[in-house]
Amino acid sequence: MHFKIKVKKTEKNDFPYIMRLSIFSQNLTNFNIECSPFASAKDHLKLQHVLHKIRELYYRRVYIESNDSTKLIAAACPDIKSNVNSDKKELIEVIAELESKLSTQLTVPLDYDEKTFNSVIALREKLNSETNLSDKKINSYIKEYENIKLNPKTTFITVEVATENGNVKNLVLHQSGWIKYSKFGFDIRDASKTYEWDQIVKIQGAIKLTTNVRQYSPLDFFNLFAENCKINEFFISLLKSLNINKNIDLLFKSAIEIDFCEPIGNMQLINLKIKQVDEDWNKMENLYKISDYKSLAPILKKFGNDDTNLAYGYVLNEQYNEAIELANSIIKEDISSVAHMTKGLAYVGLGEFDKAYDAYELGVYACQYEWYPIARDNLLEFIKKHKIPASDELSKLEELLSIERKPLYLNKLCFCGSNRKFKNCHASVNNQSFL
Ligand SMILES: [Zn+2]
Repeated sequence: MHFKIKVKKTEKNDFPYIMRLSIFSQNLTNFNIECSPFASAKDHLKLQHVLHKIRELYYRRVYIESNDSTKLIAAACPDIKSNVNSDKKELIEVIAELESKLSTQLTVPLDYDEKTFNSVIALREKLNSETNLSDKKINSYIKEYENIKLNPKTTFITVEVATENGNVKNLVLHQSGWIKYSKFGFDIRDASKTYEWDQIVKIQGAIKLTTNVRQYSPLDFFNLFAENCKINEFFISLLKSLNINKNIDLLFKSAIEIDFCEPIGNMQLINLKIKQVDEDWNKMENLYKISDYKSLAPILKKFGNDDTNLAYGYVLNEQYNEAIELANSIIKEDISSVAHMTKGLAYVGLGEFDKAYDAYELGVYACQYEWYPIARDNLLEFIKKHKIPASDELSKLEELLSIERKPLYLNKLCFCGSNRKFKNCHASVNNQSFL
């Protein structure tokens, strides 16, 4: 018999079975195949059938191969358990019946008692008495099934660690209860997403999170991730087993991906991927610390994570047209972006002072006022560095950035005196002539 270990990941529903291995040596292996908590009743029945067949074989030899057909493990006559008692078998058969009547897949309880059993039987009786099953009714039956407290809430966490030599270790842990999203206290920068996030937190829906910012060290992160669970200790022993004794903070600080899948019944799957940090993330962090936006530009371009500072970096590298183009696309997304000021500075670099004035003027009305002095300092420094001779045009720019103004609301009248609302005049993102 051959088992292949697939490296390529697919949907969780494609994994109805779990193989538990106990490896003593390459030739002494015990394993057991069981259903995953996501398996349907039909999957359970199928497995029982297969296990029965395997056990009937007088001589059996099992190989476990990697996907390039390297033999990883060989075992002779492994002990295969099939511990489904007749009560559980009956329960599974009833659930399979429900499945075919409702044309859906239902997960089977990990544990059950008499009450559960009777509730499932009662549900079958009720379903049998139905003459006409509408979609609405089907859904209410599925809900009713899920409400029979079949399983306590359980979280399954897969941990994948990509190491220096490309090895990927994939482990599955589980703990009781669900990990509460709200615990993370994520800061939603985009206000329009707040509502969406609140909904996801409420229903514990599917969401993918990636952290590249050095906000948490891995241990802090895991503390936050799984309070009161063993994952932390687990993580440390995992790193030990991978022979990573270096500064783990440095290695894994920046690239953590968490993929929360939508719960199925009372079970939730969370995929956690920890990738080795690209050396450039470390460089980036240090350059931010010393505000060296000139050197940051190529790295920010590579990661695409901070266009606002990238546009400024372009100006410092005298890539003025790139800066203007990028600033325009940022402004299109966010009219209050400081990219207006960056655009103004890029036009100063090109010697187009009229355009610089227009960009700065829109900036001082659209951006938060704390940006004015910064924009002004940047302008003065730029003038000094590039030895731009003093002129009326330059003084006008400096003056513009020296007066404090409250940012305009989009529904207020525009600063230019056109008598139109700001959003329909200078702040109109569709109006290319201003961008
Ligand atoms: Zn206007």
